[in-house]
Amino acid sequence: MHNKSVAELSRELESGKISSVELTREFLDRIKAEDKQYNSFIAVTEDQAMADAKAADEQRAAGNASVWTGVPFAHKDIFCTKGVATTAGSKMLANFVPPYDSTVTANFRAAGAVCLGKTNMDEFAMGSSNESSFFGPVTNPWGLSAGEKRVPGGSSGGSAAAIAARLVPAATATDTGGSIRQPAALCGITGLKPTYGRVSRYGIIAFASSLDQGGTMARTAEDNALMLNVMAGFDPKDSTSVDRAVPDYTATLNEPLKGLRVGLPKEYFSDQLSPAMEQQIRNAVKEYEKLGATVKEVSLPHAKLAIAAYYVIAPAEASANLSRFDGVRYGYRCENPQDLNDLYTRTRAEGFGDEVKRRILVGTYALSAGYFDAYYLKAQKVRRLIQQDFINAFKEVDVLMSPVSPSPAFVQGANTNDPVTMYLEDIFTIAVNLAGVPAMSVPAGFVDGLPVGLQIIGNYFDEARLLNAAHQFQQVTDWHQKLPQ
Ligand code: GLN
Repeated sequence: MHNKSVAELSRELESGKISSVELTREFLDRIKAEDKQYNSFIAVTEDQAMADAKAADEQRAAGNASVWTGVPFAHKDIFCTKGVATTAGSKMLANFVPPYDSTVTANFRAAGAVCLGKTNMDEFAMGSSNESSFFGPVTNPWGLSAGEKRVPGGSSGGSAAAIAARLVPAATATDTGGSIRQPAALCGITGLKPTYGRVSRYGIIAFASSLDQGGTMARTAEDNALMLNVMAGFDPKDSTSVDRAVPDYTATLNEPLKGLRVGLPKEYFSDQLSPAMEQQIRNAVKEYEKLGATVKEVSLPHAKLAIAAYYVIAPAEASANLSRFDGVRYGYRCENPQDLNDLYTRTRAEGFGDEVKRRILVGTYALSAGYFDAYYLKAQKVRRLIQQDFINAFKEVDVLMSPVSPSPAFVQGANTNDPVTMYLEDIFTIAVNLAGVPAMSVPAGFVDGLPVGLQIIGNYFDEARLLNAAHQFQQVTDWHQKLPQ
């Protein structure tokens, strides 16, 4: 059963061939037996999962089941779960038990899905390798058979590794600068970052509020559509959530791609990309041509400024968001504070890891009175130019295609002492967040036995088209079905 997709598992449950209690047991046993080598879960909520599975079986028996009723999945540990610790991968929140559910968590609960636990992540979603988690690094299932411990990407690396290892068929994730697409690519699974505002951020621990977006991860595009059906929608509790009708994302998966206009941004096929990676991406684009798409080169002239702008804007917002962790209200508190200043400084010095501190320092500096105009304001202007690039490109084409990451999964530790190289991991993903458009990562081949992801970028609120394009590709390729040994 653990090799089946969400859609298939849902049908098995519906036919009565298996119960949710049996299915949930099978996945929990797999996590117990296998996750020591990956460390993809921070917490496994076994008792709650078994109770939810039993309730789901009763719902099905009573005839009021949704597609998701009784289907196991997991949440990235950045989504607040009522009564279950939510850590954001940080010592600062290791003891934090939210008194409420995020909107996304509540939606999955209402749909009857069975959450097995909380997946590992880079601390406060800052990273591209899942090495900055307080709960230890996550190991990519790919590469292990060659005796190599490779990163799963980040920050949603726990979700991606767990899905690739068949510990769970689907998991939630978040993407601020690439954290859904890059780990999906490095682990050989399918992920979607929706349009900013499509999925409520209420109850997602904030990193950079104008960029953060919750999204989906699973092996197939169809399963991503099933997830987005549950997650998307207006939420009065999130002031940036958009009040706009939610289509059934599964309804258009089988539309033919004849006439789809594909643009290849020339800036994303640069010397940053290894020739072997480029070959895989070009092969994938050829498949789309066979499916009836037309392809042309386009330009995103300001894309090269995206990393620089992001590493001003994201740290600036992070420094403000993370100021709430002061040892007073919730989370970690240092022992025996001498006075208020000692409480603040030692709590934050002891509770935050190095990467988080680096971001707070950069962000505070960029926002300080003397430098605000030179850095933050300038970065916001660049952001507007980047957004305009996408608006212009989508006047000519329906989707953009590019690589997700410049290289496949790297060996753990390879970039830990070089933050700038680490930041460049997101060179092809970050502009999308600055513009707020949706994008996917779809398995599209291998280099040196490691998965490669194709990025498909869409216009605002064009998630259905992206899912359709990914689904059609998955009808004629089987990269998404490959199993790590
Ligand atoms: N790797 C990027 C960063 O470290 C993006 C992370 C994310 O999308 N959450 O900020």
